[in-house]
Amino acid sequence: MNEAEYAALAAEILAVIDENHAGMAAISRDIHAHPEIMFEERYAAAKLTSALSEHGFEVQRGVGGLETAFVALSGVNPGPTVGFIAEYDALPGIGHACGHNLIATSALAAGFALNRVIDRLPGQIAVIGTPAEEGGGGKVTMRDAGVFAQVDAVLMTHMAMETVTKPVFLAVAAIDLAFHGKASHAAAAPEAGINALDAVIQFFNGMNALRQHVRSDARMHGIILNGGQAANIVPEYASAKYVVRARDTMYVRELLLKARACAEAAALATGARLEFKVGATLEHVASNGVMADLFGEKLRNLGWSSTEVQLDGPASTDMGALSHAVPAIHPLVQIADFPVAWHTPEFREAAWSDRGQEGMRTAAKAMALTALDLLVKPGLLDAVKAEFAELPR
Ligand SMILES: [Zn+2]
Ligand SMILES: [Zn+2]
Repeated sequence: MNEAEYAALAAEILAVIDENHAGMAAISRDIHAHPEIMFEERYAAAKLTSALSEHGFEVQRGVGGLETAFVALSGVNPGPTVGFIAEYDALPGIGHACGHNLIATSALAAGFALNRVIDRLPGQIAVIGTPAEEGGGGKVTMRDAGVFAQVDAVLMTHMAMETVTKPVFLAVAAIDLAFHGKASHAAAAPEAGINALDAVIQFFNGMNALRQHVRSDARMHGIILNGGQAANIVPEYASAKYVVRARDTMYVRELLLKARACAEAAALATGARLEFKVGATLEHVASNGVMADLFGEKLRNLGWSSTEVQLDGPASTDMGALSHAVPAIHPLVQIADFPVAWHTPEFREAAWSDRGQEGMRTAAKAMALTALDLLVKPGLLDAVKAEFAELPR
């Protein structure tokens, strides 16, 4: 492909996104107006998959054993597969306060634009619907079911208070812990009891003492779920939920070992029996540098400036797990200003606003042009994969 042909393709892609914009904004507002929590995103999944079918995509619903997950493929020529990730779950109570309605339509808009020129491109494009980002880890289930086995690279954009190409998203692990003690009258026969609540308190104190001696990127936080039944009974059972996070998965594993030691010390000190269960660890987001820099370059050409790392405090996402299975980017595009934060009514308004829809359009354009390069620029996808192969595991 010569430069003139490439320029014509890129211009056509941008024109298609502009042409479709009103329709994409309408879908994103429709999903916003019908918030559905994790694994219940039936309205959104139906809306998105029917639009993809109408545009000639081959759609598989219920992939990876998840009813509201889907893969939509388009492409007639041999070559690699590049996927756009759509999220569309809302939060309980507060609705689309994370702006996943815009993530969904940015993926759709990018997919539709490449679909218009796909017969002139090598390979395939995919729009991949991933349910339950907010707590359900849909991407982990889909990854484990092999949904991404044939995909060479994935792109998604999250809307935010700043525009960032390689934002930090922390690795995270949740611990369920419980202590089993022995009930007794708290005043008449305390010496006969084993206090399970004391064990939980010792665990929290141990973790709080540990704070001084962990890396500054570590986050450790928890709640007591059960602290006993009555003040005059020595608690025979107490339980807590605890979360540890850090910039990389290796350090989260180290924090888990330290947390386990604090819990065992509490059990030893009190005589209570410990139950310690670690849930699935979500890895940190490993942004592919080649793809992220390319996305930044596309943004610049669209007149948007970006930084590499965000100012805002980092969260966690199941995209982290996916970024260790497939080369991936998870950049941020600004649609609101600080001090607005994710998961607030203000961000929910931003996810509906005209500015939100414009951010969605920009995200779609930058993703579509990045994907175009991955498909047509010789050696680019090899560079992406070479960097991916070097990820520490
Ligand atoms: Zn969120
Ligand atoms: Zn989110």
